[in-house]
Amino acid sequence: MTAIPVTIGRRMLQPAVSAPSGVFAAASTAPVAAVGAPLVDTHGRVHRDLRISLTDRCSLRCTYCMPEQGNEWLAKTSILTLDEIVRIARVAAADEITTFRLTGGEPLLRSDIVEVVRRLSAITGPDGRPVEIAMTTNGIRLPELLPALVEAGLTRLNISIDTLRRDRFHALTRRDRLDDVRDGIAAAGASGLRPLKLNAVAMRDVNDDELVDLVEFAIAHDAQMRFIEQMPLDAGHTWDRSRMVTQDEILTALSARWTLTPVPGRGGAPAARWTLDGGPHTVGVIASVTAPFCGDCDRLRLTADGQLRNCLFSTTEYDLLPILRAETSPVVEPVETRIDGMLRSCVHGKLPGHAINDPSFLQPARGMNAIGG
Ligand code: SAM
Ligand code: SF4
Repeated sequence: MTAIPVTIGRRMLQPAVSAPSGVFAAASTAPVAAVGAPLVDTHGRVHRDLRISLTDRCSLRCTYCMPEQGNEWLAKTSILTLDEIVRIARVAAADEITTFRLTGGEPLLRSDIVEVVRRLSAITGPDGRPVEIAMTTNGIRLPELLPALVEAGLTRLNISIDTLRRDRFHALTRRDRLDDVRDGIAAAGASGLRPLKLNAVAMRDVNDDELVDLVEFAIAHDAQMRFIEQMPLDAGHTWDRSRMVTQDEILTALSARWTLTPVPGRGGAPAARWTLDGGPHTVGVIASVTAPFCGDCDRLRLTADGQLRNCLFSTTEYDLLPILRAETSPVVEPVETRIDGMLRSCVHGKLPGHAINDPSFLQPARGMNAIGG
């Protein structure tokens, strides 16, 4: 089938394909019909990583991600069910996706999160190996959920913490929850999940005087600190390049405390890494704006409302909902075949780079919380 990409100008989309079949997506026990080949784009990039956003809701309101009020939430009826997520994931794994990263919004707000991890971790690729289940979280619900998540098959964790100061955290996230995040990081540190990564968006006059402190905090929790250049993905569209702390500035600040040595062999990883005083500890920088790494990108994204995206910054989405929920006949092809076709259309449409630095760049309509970071 040919999937028709749709360019969005607002949050809620028209279907990208007309509802084609009489199959209503239920719990899929059927074999994956579209046992696939790898998802290779027209620039030769092989896709191995699917970021699955589980919700656009969040317990925080980080200024760079969500507005304080008036967020336009995704319609509850459009949110993918667990069975629908698993159905898509099985096809993706057959197409040699090897890692599912659960994100959001805040993925731990999803009430069936443990079951999501359990069902996804049972999926194997064509080589019989289980997929890897990673999660990016604000950590707030980790103390209560982490044992069950690990038992269910979670293998890796990234936790976001932008500041160690309570007043700053409150101002930045509009919630007084720093202690809860710290408890979540402590729980993760005490767990066996490694490598454990902590993420901070570096912001001028907000937390750029805490970069060394954050790295030391990460080391104390046997974690790797990673700084992210702020990207134009806030729901309020208030990103200002001049406010962005660059990779060069981050490295300069850290060099005052440690000797930094580049770690080779980055592969498709978004973070470039440096050892601190020769190791073993390292720090990472995700420099999407000043040092884009699009040439090695192996990531696809699935939004909580069933839209496939080939780039964080894309304005084109590929709608899986009509495939999963079509209620009219005739059945032309198995649903799995159509999901596979949509994955391939999405990969085929991937541009060589994100063009943030191009004057014609248009910020996507969705905020980061609705895309899935
Ligand atoms: N709620 C979870 C969390 O905060 O880790 C998962 C979702 S959040 C969208 C994923 C990551 O995106 C976080 O590390 C967050 O700091 C980052 N992020 C959000 N908006 C960003 C922006 N405008 N620029 C750079 N990173 C951003
Ligand atoms: Fe929530 Fe994560 Fe966005 Fe902060 S960055 S508002 S924690 S989704």
